[in-house]
Amino acid sequence: MKIGVIGGGQLGRMLALAGTPLGMNFAFLDPAPDACAAALGEHLRADYGDQDHLRQLADEVDLVTFEFESVPAETVAFLSQFVPVYPSAEALRIARDRWFEKRMFKDLGIPTPAFADIQSQADLDDAVSSIGLPAVLKTRTLGYDGKGQKVLRTPTDVVDTFAELGSVPCLLEGFVSFTGEVSLIAVRARDGETRFYPLVHNTHDSGILRLSIASTDHPLQGLAEDYAGRVLKHLDYVGVLAFEFFEVEGGLKANEIAPRVHNSGHWTTEGAECSQFENHLRAVAGLPLGSTAKVGESAMLNFIGEVPAVEQVIAIDDCHLHHYGKAFKLGRKVGHATVRSKDRVTLDRQVKRVEALIKR
Ligand code: AMP
Repeated sequence: MKIGVIGGGQLGRMLALAGTPLGMNFAFLDPAPDACAAALGEHLRADYGDQDHLRQLADEVDLVTFEFESVPAETVAFLSQFVPVYPSAEALRIARDRWFEKRMFKDLGIPTPAFADIQSQADLDDAVSSIGLPAVLKTRTLGYDGKGQKVLRTPTDVVDTFAELGSVPCLLEGFVSFTGEVSLIAVRARDGETRFYPLVHNTHDSGILRLSIASTDHPLQGLAEDYAGRVLKHLDYVGVLAFEFFEVEGGLKANEIAPRVHNSGHWTTEGAECSQFENHLRAVAGLPLGSTAKVGESAMLNFIGEVPAVEQVIAIDDCHLHHYGKAFKLGRKVGHATVRSKDRVTLDRQVKRVEALIKR
C-alpha cells in the first residue's frame, strides 16, 4: 500500500518509519527542498496548491493523509475527488481554525476558556470588557508553538494589538490559571472503533513543548476520553487526533485539537505497545488498531535548535534518540529522546540526565 502524506517534516518521517515494516510505501508532498521525510520516501517538491502535483500524488497512492493541519481547504477538496483522504476535509476545516474548534467544543458540551471572535480592534476592546484581563489573543489560523498569540495583562497591552498580530481574524480567550497541561492521544478506525493512550503531562517553555510524561491511572483519564470521544464521533473521525487540555480545579478545559499525530505522543514509539504513528496508519488504511497500553513508565524530551552529542544521549539507560536530520535553527524542533523505565523514580532520574545535556 502506498500512502501519500501532505507535509514532509518529522511527523511524516516518523509515520514512514512506523509504516515501512507494515509493507507501506510513502510519497510526501512538500515545497521545502530539505523536507526531512524525503529520506524515507518519494518527495514531490511542490506547493500545496499545485494541482498538477496533487493529481500526480493522487494517481500514485492508495490514500492521502496529513502531517500538519494548516493545509489549504482547496487542496483537500481537490485531492478528495480522486483518492480517499483521512482525516476528512471537515475535520481539518474545524481543527485549523480556533473559532470553529471552540464553537464545536461548546456545542458538544465540552468546557473551554471564555472566548470571542475578533475581527477588528473594536471587537477586541469589547471582548476585553466582557472577558476581562488577563486574556490571550490568538490568530484563528496558522498559529503553532506559541506563534501568533499574545498574552494581554494590562489595558496598555490591548492598545493596537489587533494590528500587531497582523490584522487577521483572531480569537480572544480568557486566561486559564491551570494546574497543569495534559493531552490525550486518541485513534479512531474507519469502522468507528476508538482507543486512547494514557493522558500525558506536558511542560512548555516559550510556547514550545519541552517535556511530556505519560501518566499512570490519571484521575481525569475517563473525563478526557469522554470529551475526546464526543469530538471523534461528531467528526466521524478517522486516524489519530490529539486533544490538549488545561487541568483546572476538579476538571478539564479544552484548549485545542490537532488532527494528526502529535509531539506529545512521541513517547509511544518506545513507550506503548503500538505507537501513535503505526496506529494512525492502521486507522487510515482500514487495518485493525493496535494496543495503546503503556510499556512501563515513559517520558519524551524535545531537542530544540540542536541535538546533543549522540553518544551522550544514548549512553543514558533506556534512552532512545530520534534525530530528525534537520539543520540547526533557533527554536526549531530537531529531535527528541524517549526515556523508559520500570518505575517513576528512575524515570525522573533519567529525565534529569537528558535535561543536563540540553544547552540553555
Ligand atoms: P496553544 O497554541 O493554544 O496551544 O498555546 C500555547 C501555550 O500557551 C499553551 O500550551 C499554554 O501553555 C499557553 N496558553 C494558551 N492559551 C492559554 C489560555 N487561554 N490561558 C492560559 N495559558 C494559555
